[in-house]
Amino acid sequence: PRLANQIAAGEVVERPASVTKELIENAIDAGSQRIEVDIEAGGARLIKIRDDGVGIGEQDLPLALARHATSKIDSLEDLEGVSSLGFRGEALASISSVSRLELVSNALDDPRQGWRVVAEGRGMETRVTPAPHPRGTSVSVRDLFFNTPARRKFLRTEKTEFAHVEEAFRRQALSRYDIAWTLRHNQKVVHQLPSGDTETARERRIASLLGNNFIEHARYIEREAGALRLSGWVGLPTHSRAQADQQYFFVNGRVVRDRLVAHAVRQAYRDVLYNGRHPVFVLYLTLDPDVVDVNVHPTKHEVRFRDGRMVHDFLYSSLHHSLADARP
Ligand code: ADP
Ligand code: MG
Repeated sequence: PRLANQIAAGEVVERPASVTKELIENAIDAGSQRIEVDIEAGGARLIKIRDDGVGIGEQDLPLALARHATSKIDSLEDLEGVSSLGFRGEALASISSVSRLELVSNALDDPRQGWRVVAEGRGMETRVTPAPHPRGTSVSVRDLFFNTPARRKFLRTEKTEFAHVEEAFRRQALSRYDIAWTLRHNQKVVHQLPSGDTETARERRIASLLGNNFIEHARYIEREAGALRLSGWVGLPTHSRAQADQQYFFVNGRVVRDRLVAHAVRQAYRDVLYNGRHPVFVLYLTLDPDVVDVNVHPTKHEVRFRDGRMVHDFLYSSLHHSLADARP
């Protein structure tokens, strides 16, 4: 299984940021209310995610690291309506095949309980030992790619790798305002985000993740048509220092990079006013889960809408309306 794991690892484990993303998704799936991310040396030395979710019981701990072991799907029918972020049961197995991974978890409310299991590249040590931990899980990934030197060489500078990690964190933090988040790099707090789902709380979080400049030059929008709902913040023409990469689009809570969406947004901006200026936005589209497939690919963030035309037109007209309205 070692080889299979390393091949699969190539798909989900590209760099520290992809590990961070997978581990955060697991923490979200576990129903956590608080998620802490600790990074050292851009993630090459350490990626640690601590959560206060449901935890993993003693019996299930070795299973969590096994390939194709997922607790999230029992049947093929489940696959249709899957609402968890993960469901393939590959991430932990893949990550542990190219790092030194430690899993400490407690599924009980008694903080004196807790269990630990480690896996180091060539295989899992199936021994589960007691390790007290408050209810929830800590996953530590050390020395990523220590046993695949060719891949290790592809890691960029600490600064670059951390920038990617921070971006992965940003996307997740923008998708769940009901969770409190912390990101540290080399023991220094980079983001400390309390939970809160009011419009003001959201604005505060966006300001700390994307800068005051973003929120000061953005306008809040909210539009609905049938089962489609679009809300969020769009950058305005006065925002001259807009950064090209501040484009966040979420479909039913998941970040998406989709051509249809990108096209609708770009066209709306272009038709209203933006002469070559970067559109910047944080937008949330919700629609009936039956008419969208967000699990097309584990890493590509694509979606498939049943009625793409309708979604495109709704996005275009909503944004066009809001932007035209805000024209100075
Ligand atoms: P998947 O998320 O696709 O199920 P993973 O390899 O990411 O696969 O995780 C394997 C299993 O380990 C999960 O199905 C879950 O049961 C358990 N698990 C992993 N991380 C956590 C966590 N932070 N809290 C609780 N359970 C977890
Ligand atoms: Mg997962």
